[in-house]
Amino acid sequence: MPVTGLEPYDDQNIFARILRGEIPNKTVYEDECALAFHDISPQASVHVLVIPKGPYVSSVDFAARASDSEIAGFWRAVGKVAAALGLETEGYRLLSNHGLNAGQEVPHFHVHVFGGGPLGRMISANH
Ligand code: AMP
Repeated sequence: MPVTGLEPYDDQNIFARILRGEIPNKTVYEDECALAFHDISPQASVHVLVIPKGPYVSSVDFAARASDSEIAGFWRAVGKVAAALGLETEGYRLLSNHGLNAGQEVPHFHVHVFGGGPLGRMISANH
């Protein structure tokens, strides 16, 4: 089923299963608000996913339903991940797919962190 980012949270999604420890992951950083781990199919030299620990389907759902402390904690964690990966000086890219046009695959909000070298154009889709 395509992910719209607006459906109810599915607690069987792959990232929910990673959070429950049912599926292994290569953890980069973890705190009470967020877990960061290497993407299984990296699209750059460094490709890490940061996910909130709460059950949010998409960026829209996270912005609407997460508490202020969850939102602050999550974005602070993203910064800590970039620092832990040594990306702050050379730079990096953050990306989050919401729904159909963005091709969101996993219905648990996540931010991609890309780095490790020049990343090229921001997007390549025709428009
Ligand atoms: P998105 O298209 O934004 O929903 O991205 C989902 C990302 O999750 C893709 O980059 C996948 O390679 C990645 N992914 C899927 N399953 C796993 C997994 N078990 N561990 C790590 N990354 C995964």
